[in-house]
Amino acid sequence: MSGPIVRIEGLAKRFGAVEAVAGVDLEIERGELFALLGGSGCGKTTLLRMLAGLETPDAGRVLIDGQDMTQVPPHLRPVNMMFQSYALFPHMSVAENVGYGLRREGVARAETDRRVAEALEQVRLADLSRRRPAQLSGGQRQRVALARALVKRPKLLLLDEPLAALDRKLREGTRFELVRLQEELGLTFVMVTHDQGEAMSMATRLAVMNAGRIAQMGSPHEVYERPASRFVADFIGIANILAAPDGRWLALRPEKIVLSATPPDTAHTAAGRIVDIAYEGDRSLYRVAIDDGRLMIAATANVGRAPDVAFRRGENVWLGWAADAGQLLDD
Ligand code: ATP
Repeated sequence: MSGPIVRIEGLAKRFGAVEAVAGVDLEIERGELFALLGGSGCGKTTLLRMLAGLETPDAGRVLIDGQDMTQVPPHLRPVNMMFQSYALFPHMSVAENVGYGLRREGVARAETDRRVAEALEQVRLADLSRRRPAQLSGGQRQRVALARALVKRPKLLLLDEPLAALDRKLREGTRFELVRLQEELGLTFVMVTHDQGEAMSMATRLAVMNAGRIAQMGSPHEVYERPASRFVADFIGIANILAAPDGRWLALRPEKIVLSATPPDTAHTAAGRIVDIAYEGDRSLYRVAIDDGRLMIAATANVGRAPDVAFRRGENVWLGWAADAGQLLDD
């Protein structure tokens, strides 16, 4: 089949007074790692659950691989979901957990064993197949859950906050693991996350959601460099929101601003005083009170043998930015 693997048309779902998903149109291409990104309550989980068939839409259609799946129950969709909690059976071994769905479907023993071994190989857990979940680390449990989802060979793998249960350090390594696996298998992943760093670093494309709608969709680079609205500019990274001469708003990222002791030779300049400095290791953020009363944030990259502080709190500085450094916003 050609065409998108997922096509969502006018999808809507309401819970009482809450419009959880308010008319979403979306296409996902084969082999993408697509992220649904948004804050709490924006409707991303409800959208994912409608894709899985775990929630019935009030309106709209879900097509998977060109087929209308809107009325098709979850177990008959070519889709599998990895839940945030993993939901592993504690009394079963790793291999039994992974093979559970196949055994229930009545797949022959030898075939089940072969596919379980293959899935465990894919997530690099072949050595631990006889352990129980309680004898595994958090990261290993996550890989068991992943193997259990992969063993059914879905066309589409849905992941609900796949890294949320891991501690911070492990989460970063696991990002790369998931991307590697997704690329190796050539599968389409759709992931829900509230973590913008996760979505930005992993996704081929992402949809930023707000109040049941898609606020913007694009590659991480597009969404960061060319946010469409104040909401998106603010949600992804840090943005200075300035009034443009034509009455519209302009988003200016802190790293597009140069900080200098003397007036810089840039299209735009502003003078002010440093009120706060946040040292983050690889960069420092400076909060600057501009003479007209506004606050702006500028960032310096701490590259090479950077001094511990380039500027001090209370110091008078100049900010400068190029004519094309800002991005005009639609609303
Ligand atoms: P979170 O990250 O907090 O899980 P989310 O973006 O995934 O948020 P959803 O779970 O999709 O958001 O929920 C969207 C809205 O719909 C919320 O206001 C939520 O309270 C509501 N909601 C979701 N499921 C139900 C339900 N089964 N019954 C009633 N309201 C629900």
